[in-house]
Amino acid sequence: MTKAVLDDPTRRGALLALGSGVALAAGAPAIAQAQTSSSPAASSPAASSPAASAPARQGPGFYHHKVGDATVTTITDGARTIPLADGFVRNASRDQINAALGQAFMPANTMTLVYNPMVVTIADKRILIDTGNGPDPKGAVGHLLPNMAAAGIDPKSIDVVLLTHFHGDHVNGLLNADGALAFPNAEILVPAAEWAFWMDDGNMSRAPEGGVKQTFGNVRRVFKGQDSRITQYQWDKELAPGLTPFATTGHTPGHTSLSLESGNARLLIQADVTNHPALFVRNPGWHAGFDMDGPKAEETRRRLYDRAVADKVLIAGFHYPFPSLGHAEKDGSGYRLVPIAWNPVL
Ligand SMILES: [Zn+2]
Repeated sequence: MTKAVLDDPTRRGALLALGSGVALAAGAPAIAQAQTSSSPAASSPAASSPAASAPARQGPGFYHHKVGDATVTTITDGARTIPLADGFVRNASRDQINAALGQAFMPANTMTLVYNPMVVTIADKRILIDTGNGPDPKGAVGHLLPNMAAAGIDPKSIDVVLLTHFHGDHVNGLLNADGALAFPNAEILVPAAEWAFWMDDGNMSRAPEGGVKQTFGNVRRVFKGQDSRITQYQWDKELAPGLTPFATTGHTPGHTSLSLESGNARLLIQADVTNHPALFVRNPGWHAGFDMDGPKAEETRRRLYDRAVADKVLIAGFHYPFPSLGHAEKDGSGYRLVPIAWNPVL
């Protein structure tokens, strides 16, 4: 099914033809059900109404973009600059990585990772796609909530938190510093395959010590006690009108991207199919240390980018530089990302 979505453009029409009626079937996420996003605690009518609160202007930490009738708002969670670790790319040398950084006018031996969740507003429902790193005492990241406030979006007005995969930079923002839910009225949608992998005790016991083992523990910490809010979703089934998840595995076993279609417009929300484009869009054959299955991730990446180039589709990347939107074109053995032109008003 994944292959069908990636390789067959007519498949997208088929997905659209499903319409919201199918997505509304029993067991479908609550986004599809009549549900008011307002709450008594919402700070103002403007804060609880997507239509009323979407400002016409952009801000330094948020950026609105129309996709047909839908609005996507990139909201940055911040950026971390870290020394370039050995093994950051498994199959490229430090010299090769530094050369790629230099071509992007980024300093050598240093990596800046950026984190950009996105709110998609469709038919008056607000869907937050991934949550960022959560509170950070150092202040480099954890800016999702203040930037969301600057964009006029009350966390209480988020109807759905939709997660693409379970790495900490995508799920930790579900919780505030005190452990309370940051989006108290939201249903949490998780990829069924991702849930199955990380919640399996056998997989956890077999995981090597280090980052993967830590991720098992972190996933269980973040989701603890939230069973009633969590709905597992399936690939290739529409979650909201025009918003369809599909498998892009390799980065993690259940890693998921999303296609958003409205009218004649389309946005491909790639999540972590590539990390920073200066390294991994330019060099799709590079296997990032945090791609759990490097060869699989590369196969997914090449297939998705070949399709995106052919379709000239706009792409959103969680780790693209803000505002995380651009088009890809073929360039030698890799690709090149062309950021969208900044539009000062929505
Ligand atoms: Zn990530």
